[in-house]
Amino acid sequence: MTAPDWYGRGLQHIWLPYTQMKTTPAPLAVARTHGTRIVLEDRRELIDGIASWWTAVHGYNHPHIVQAVQAQAALMPHVMLGGLVHAQALTLAARLCAILPAKLERVFFCESGSVAVEVAMKMATQYWLNRNIRGRTKFLAFQGGYHGDTIATMAVCDPDEGMHALFKGLLPEQHVIALPRDDESIAAFDAFLERHAHELAGILVEPLVQGAGGMLFHDEHVLRRLRAAADRYELLLIFDEIFTGFGRTASMFACDAPAIAPDIVTLGKALTGGAAPLAATVATAKVFDAFWSDDPAHALMHGPTFMGHALGCAAANASLDLFERENRLLQANEIAVKLTHGLGPCLALKGVRDVRVRGAIGVVELEHIGDLNALKRRLLAEGVWVRPFRNIVYLTPALTIGDDDLMRLTAAVAKVIAAVGD
Ligand SMILES: *Cc1c(COP(=O)(O)O)cnc(C)c1O
Repeated sequence: MTAPDWYGRGLQHIWLPYTQMKTTPAPLAVARTHGTRIVLEDRRELIDGIASWWTAVHGYNHPHIVQAVQAQAALMPHVMLGGLVHAQALTLAARLCAILPAKLERVFFCESGSVAVEVAMKMATQYWLNRNIRGRTKFLAFQGGYHGDTIATMAVCDPDEGMHALFKGLLPEQHVIALPRDDESIAAFDAFLERHAHELAGILVEPLVQGAGGMLFHDEHVLRRLRAAADRYELLLIFDEIFTGFGRTASMFACDAPAIAPDIVTLGKALTGGAAPLAATVATAKVFDAFWSDDPAHALMHGPTFMGHALGCAAANASLDLFERENRLLQANEIAVKLTHGLGPCLALKGVRDVRVRGAIGVVELEHIGDLNALKRRLLAEGVWVRPFRNIVYLTPALTIGDDDLMRLTAAVAKVIAAVGD
């Protein structure tokens, strides 16, 4: 079948993400999606192992979400949130606060995760300024972390894997150290805070799973240590739950665990079930109170054009309905068992360094991937959509994925890794 006519013409004008446009293999033309399937223009149907960068937790085109977006589009696609509000945004704000740990009670909407993190950083910085405390403008973040691609968020990503070297001079200098997880890193963390806490606005971390930085896991006790340190030095603790939120780790949020609730949390990705771009920064009353004043200059100085987008909020409300009606967390736990079963044998393969599973995240870490494009081609030939990066092959399927599709995904990953190890 020949490519549709929009394809060749448009490829002369589109600029794709993280892509060397000169040498990249031709991107696949997608005609439509359904459930856990991606249907290509050439009629091939791929089993989706990634849920479109972890967003489509209920699978694609879930009828309840589609219907909610259609109804909202007919009523009102969008209206500015400056001076106006609408039912979808206010309903969503209240519902998010009802399911987040108790003290998180103010929601600021925007349209992408990176911006939600920027808003969190701005909130934390202005929190100190509003209280007339100067000099607390830096953040402590962690190696292996990823918080976005905008300028301020790049500066808090892992310095080696991120783009610090490339953009040196442009990025604000932040502190990025090892997560306090063993004696040595705990000592370094404590020593760091002794020296630098007074210049910090807050501590920023992806709780439990560092996603785009390498699918690295850590335990709750690391988060408890961060919470305790934040309390000791009066720092704001910010959890970036853009990846972990909405069931991915088999709890609704990583911050659901007792005694680790953050002062600010960022949400995105699966917030709308993958149907529309929407993100949120949620703050505790303690943070919000620093902005509550008769002085207009104490207002939070931010306001994205499309904040609280009605279609996005309608999709997010419908997604929360599905979490209420259907047991996604149980599904995530079941997926964990099947990922462990399906990917576990990879550990015996040549070139495999680690296999790890947490919730609906399955990771095979290789010594290295010599030819990433060749690996991607082999996965495609197996009829699956999986996007390995660096030395990581991972699966983050929709939480609704059926057993057969999940088995075909894990089998394809195991087969392809065995083949490249030969
Ligand atoms: C994806 C991601 C972001 C950035 O979100 P965008 O919507 O791509 O801007 C930030 N933090 C984490 C943990 C993410 O996974």
